[in-house]
Amino acid sequence: MINAIELEAQEYGMKAYEVIGYNISRLCAYHNNERHAVLEGIKCSLEHELHSDLNGALNILKKATGMLIQGTAKPL
Ligand SMILES: [Zn+2]
Repeated sequence: MINAIELEAQEYGMKAYEVIGYNISRLCAYHNNERHAVLEGIKCSLEHELHSDLNGALNILKKATGMLIQGTAKPL
């Protein structure tokens, strides 16, 4: 399955990376520290708030490519 996805991505000129998603949202993508639930949502220990799905996607990007981009605090 992974090979099929990789070949399909190559047909469109894209690279495919395999990333294990276990615990992918546990750490803040920007500060690399533990995130915890508070009344307003989920924040890292620096009181930085980032949507969980966006944080997970940024951590996947970081694991696969080593790059990190600036995301928005909330989904559009
Ligand atoms: Zn943070």
